[in-house]
Amino acid sequence: MADLEESLEIHFPRSSSMGYYARCLFRAAMDKALAAGELTIDTGFDPIAERKRMNPPADAGTCIHWISQCKARCSFADPADSARNTLPPQAWDPARALACKPEDKFYHSALNLYKDGKRMETTMNAVGDAVVQHLPPASGWYSELGYTMGPGLLGGHVDFTSFDLEDIVDLKTTGKPPKAGRIKYAHAVQLCSYARLQHLAHGVLPKRLFALYADRNGEWILRTNPIMLDGSIPEHLQLYQHVCGLIDLVTSPLLDYAAVPQYDEVRCSDDFCPYRAYCQRMLPHGKGVSDLTVLPEIQNPFTMKGL
Ligand code: SF4
Repeated sequence: MADLEESLEIHFPRSSSMGYYARCLFRAAMDKALAAGELTIDTGFDPIAERKRMNPPADAGTCIHWISQCKARCSFADPADSARNTLPPQAWDPARALACKPEDKFYHSALNLYKDGKRMETTMNAVGDAVVQHLPPASGWYSELGYTMGPGLLGGHVDFTSFDLEDIVDLKTTGKPPKAGRIKYAHAVQLCSYARLQHLAHGVLPKRLFALYADRNGEWILRTNPIMLDGSIPEHLQLYQHVCGLIDLVTSPLLDYAAVPQYDEVRCSDDFCPYRAYCQRMLPHGKGVSDLTVLPEIQNPFTMKGL
């Protein structure tokens, strides 16, 4: 049962996948069918093995999220996590967040990235400090507020939500900054998806959605300008409305009719997609390219010279 839950977890339609769904509805339909236990075909992908596979960069990101949320004195959705974080700021031990979870598989996986425990601790503390400094002003933060639109439908957990529900911040740990400092498309869609989930759950549309990119080696950090949902930038509101439409489609039975695989060698390998091998099999290929720029050896029958 635990394995089944794990296998479903990786495919459960999530806000963090909405940017990919916007590009490929087939991926959304596959995730949804798998989460509902309705997928009868073999995709060649083993979600349980994938779930258990160590992914040091992603797992380091998980640790950095936890440390940053502790350092920001967040109120955690999980009371057990909040209880670990009730020391007054002056009593704050910067190594405490790491010490809380030494048994954690993410912690051990992340060690494979940094190699040295001391270096990992120093780096993660530095990144956590930088994250706290780059949060927008707020009276306080919730972390990991969770939403779902229903069983097997869209859900997600928000890294930072201000107490007044006006600001949402999604932290991305990465190895390189986004091009031209602009928020990545998939992340903008993800943030809008969070906004929609919050609006549905609490009746409050957040006003500002921030992406905070942090180098997991602690060398740089970038907070993008917010997506403004207060109407001050109409194009931002329009993006939000498009995402709302996409959510309606992804969560409706119509998705099955609109979902067409769109395998493309470049686009589908741009970001991890669990269905690559399956989609690839739908497209036949030839045996090899014939190079027509190499001309056959032809001799002039009179001069006996080649070309
Ligand atoms: S491999 Fe490409 S076409 Fe197939 S589901 Fe993933 S994104 Fe869509």
